[in-house]
Amino acid sequence: MSRTVLITGGNRGIGLATARAFAAQGDKVAVTHRTGEPPEGLFGVRCDVTDPESVRRAVEQVRIQHGPIEVLVSNAGITRDQLLVAMEDTDFRAVVETNLLSAVGVVKEVVPDMIKARWGRVVLVSSVGALAGAPGQTNYAASKAGLIGFGRSLALEVGRRNITVNVVTPGLIETDMVKDVTDARRDHLLSQTSLFRAGRPEEVAGVIRFLASDDASYVTSGVIPVTGGLGVGH
Ligand code: NDP
Repeated sequence: MSRTVLITGGNRGIGLATARAFAAQGDKVAVTHRTGEPPEGLFGVRCDVTDPESVRRAVEQVRIQHGPIEVLVSNAGITRDQLLVAMEDTDFRAVVETNLLSAVGVVKEVVPDMIKARWGRVVLVSSVGALAGAPGQTNYAASKAGLIGFGRSLALEVGRRNITVNVVTPGLIETDMVKDVTDARRDHLLSQTSLFRAGRPEEVAGVIRFLASDDASYVTSGVIPVTGGLGVGH
């Protein structure tokens, strides 16, 4: 069955791979893009997730084009790494605002339609750093850990309406986000994986697509690692 899917930050990286994975199985996919053009072959809505009016407009555009959103992948995210003692407050706040508060805003805009339809799938893209912590990423880890508490609480609120809420926690995935990671940090992270390699965006996309599928109908409140074994035990 073809579903209406919205992926925030779907113009590159993990979000784009996820959009392509849903599109490949025939879903009606929309992605948000902040600037530039939408990716080729996908329906794009311009949206800055930190701007509530922009989110409202984007969700409405998707409703008009494809109908009410049935699957939401909240993926847009940023990093502003720095040791806490040297971190500007604005950088801490910007990361929490984009990664946590904006995800909450998008979910709030979309979930009422799912409640009406008595069916929905929400997947929140967190990070292994939420569980294991990461030096230089107190802001990022706090924002991503917040998504876990948020998601699990939401799952309890909407479960009776046949809406599942799951969180994925990727490890080191080859995207623009990690291109500035130093070789030393990268080697350290990879040495802690069981697979001794970084992941590809498509390997996260496949898990997200599964969580939105009928095969995952009894999976909710989950925190699903896609880490190659990094952070195992957390
Ligand atoms: P990228 O930097 O490649 O992509 C980030 C995406 O988020 C872009 O599409 C970007 O849009 C979008 N975005 C950021 N801020 C906003 C905003 N204010 N409004 C709208 N869109 C925004 O990163 P990844 O693909 O790697 O990251 C995707 C998600 O996965 C993030 O939440 C990240 O934290 C998480 N993650 C990534 C890991 C990795 O190793 N790569 C590991 C763990 C988690 P634009 O193009 O306009 O900037």
